[in-house]
Amino acid sequence: KGKRAFIAGVADDNGYGWAIARSLAAAGAEILVGTWVPALNIFESSLRRGKFDGSRILPDGSMMEIAKVYPLDAVFDNPAEVPEDIKTNKRYAGSTKWTVQEVADSVKEDFGSIDILVHSLANGPEVTKPLLETSRNGYLAAISASSYSYVSLLKHFLPILNPGGSSISLTYIASERIIPGYGGGMSSAKAALESDTRVLAFEAGRKRKIRVNTISAGPLRSRAAKAIGFIDMMIDYSSANAPLQKELSAEEVGNAAAFLASPLASAITGTVLYVDNGLNAMGVGV
Ligand code: NAD
Repeated sequence: KGKRAFIAGVADDNGYGWAIARSLAAAGAEILVGTWVPALNIFESSLRRGKFDGSRILPDGSMMEIAKVYPLDAVFDNPAEVPEDIKTNKRYAGSTKWTVQEVADSVKEDFGSIDILVHSLANGPEVTKPLLETSRNGYLAAISASSYSYVSLLKHFLPILNPGGSSISLTYIASERIIPGYGGGMSSAKAALESDTRVLAFEAGRKRKIRVNTISAGPLRSRAAKAIGFIDMMIDYSSANAPLQKELSAEEVGNAAAFLASPLASAITGTVLYVDNGLNAMGVGV
């Protein structure tokens, strides 16, 4: 039977989430996405108006269908945690049931279960600040949106993840090597995400036979990456120094995610898989 995937963190066709959706769709999966509430209107209207039609075309010529788009804000676990200023915020008022618990409940109600859970989201309000200049609030916000959001998603979707299923997140090498410019506690958040990948692999594996892996991806000119401000430099650095001297395409990360989600990877869990043209293996730039 065909598999069903929920991909959290898709709001345009430039990021890793969209590419993962495409690769999973090309492999025959049914696609559900979770879109950040403030980005929902523009994403849905762009979809409707056909703005993404070109990038919906799959290798076999068919169009990727998104069975349903769910509004999601992964920094809130349930309605009781949503503060008044967010509830009454214009960008949130038009949507309902967007906390993690409510989205999991809605997916259960609409589809019963899923086989693949993808976390392709991150946010660090102070990402452009060095760690030494990062405030406590900025640091905690980065961890909340970029690390705990994954713990929460997996926790709430675990009961509807079919045994044998797979969960994937996206990380970055700044967790383990110094990448000046990746600030605001985002390097710390990715370190937490990678450590959690191991612990969650144990817990979700024992509890429901779910595999948990993270992809350490090379640089991509996504919306989030452009906000950091150094993405072009990182892409040039990789092209100059990586073992494979080509620009990384989002599709290459999408295909690795499809592999990890497939039975071909049935013994792979708790790993950090580098999809970065090999840059992680270099000791010096040459
Ligand atoms: P992107 O902008 O396509 O994706 C980030 C998404 O997160 C956006 O759709 C945004 O709306 C969403 N988001 C932010 N806060 C949210 C919240 N509270 N709740 C729900 N959604 C929220 O950018 P991307 O670069 O493709 O990022 C996807 C993942 O890939 C991230 O984890 C990122 O750290 C990781 N990554 C990116 C690169 C890169 O160079 N672009 C490299 C390595 C890893």
